This record gives sequence, structure tokens and C-alpha cells, in this order.
Amino acid sequence: MLNIILFGPPGSGKGTHSIKLAEKMQLYHLSTGDIFRSEISNKTLLGIEAKQYIDKGALVPDDLVIKVLLSTLEKQEKAKGFIFDGFPRTLIQAQKLDEELNKKGIPIKLIISLEVNNKEIITRLVKRGLESGRSDDNEEIIKQRLAFYNKQTAPLLEYYSKQNKLYTIHGVGLIEEIFVDICKTINQQK
Ligand code: AMP
Repeated sequence: MLNIILFGPPGSGKGTHSIKLAEKMQLYHLSTGDIFRSEISNKTLLGIEAKQYIDKGALVPDDLVIKVLLSTLEKQEKAKGFIFDGFPRTLIQAQKLDEELNKKGIPIKLIISLEVNNKEIITRLVKRGLESGRSDDNEEIIKQRLAFYNKQTAPLLEYYSKQNKLYTIHGVGLIEEIFVDICKTINQQK
């Protein structure tokens, strides 16, 4: 069992690298953002509620996010491990994740933080918004998301650093080269 968190601001490449890692290591890719987008397109109650926050660039409340976590962990009981992408984003979520995984005896092995500067992030996300039509990828909302990241999510770096689980990777450059760095870091800790 191998549980990994891919961490970083919006647009740092968490999604791209999570997909590649999940495939290479046969792990389950758990992206709370993807789950919310699917709930929104299926017009479920969860989707309708989450959309109000996502459209503003705010974080979805912890109780909703934790519900998604618990139901996914339960559904994917047989997974060989998880790549957490975009989760946790608050201290409460991180503590809940630790509590659940420790209960099962499968704690987080490591967290990889992708470092990308703000200017690059904005350029990447504006481009993604134009290509994908993702409604929260416009400059005004991107700035909100970055502000929420800095205030609520970045403090988790210290939480995981204190657990000696934090590894930082420079996230600007060729995707393949960054991916090699990520894989090397994981293989050294396995
Ligand atoms: P993402 O695709 O990971 O960038 O997530 C898109 C949006 O979904 C975020 O800007 C948040 O509004 C919401 N979201 C996704 N994951 C979380 C989470 N763990 N906690 C709170 N909100 C989340």
C-alpha cells in the first residue's frame, strides 16, 4: 500500500502528474476537484452546493469534502494505494485524512510539493481556461484561488514537514523531466 499526496497551488501540475503516477504505479487517483466537476455536470445536490464555492474560487466546506473522501475510500477499498490530488487543502482535512489512514494502518508515505511561481501559474491557468472552458480558470478567479491557497492550504507544508514527509520538487520545465524527479523521490522513500 502506497499513499502519496501531490501538493501545490492550482496550476502547478498536480493533475497531470497524478494521472501519470497513478498509471505507472497502479494507484487510485483521487482528485476532489474532478469529483466535484463530475457531480456538477450530473447536477447532484453535492454538485449544486459545491458549485457555489468553486465558481467564486473559494474552498468547498470541509464537511462536504470529507464526505467525498470517506465515500471514495470506502468504494476503493481494494486499491493498492492512493494519489491524493487537490486534497487535503485545509488543516482539518489533513487531520481527518491522517486519522482515517492511521485507523486502517496505511498512513501517508510522502507528500510531494510542486513549486511553481505565481506568474507561471496565471499564464498556465488562463491558457487552460481558454482551451478547456473551465469556468474557474479566468484571471479574476485564479487570483482568488491563489489567495485561498496561500491562506488555507500552504500552511499544510509545515504540518507535513513536521512529520518528515515533505519533499519539494521544482515544477517548471519539461513535464517528462519533472515526472522523472517525482518518480525518483518516491522510489527513494518506498
Ligand atoms: P482543483 O481541480 O483541484 O483545482 O479544484 C477545483 C475547485 O474545487 C477548487 O478551487 C475548490 O473550489 C474545490 N476543491 C477541490 N478540492 C477541494 C478540497 N480538498 N477542499 C476544498 N475545496 C476543494
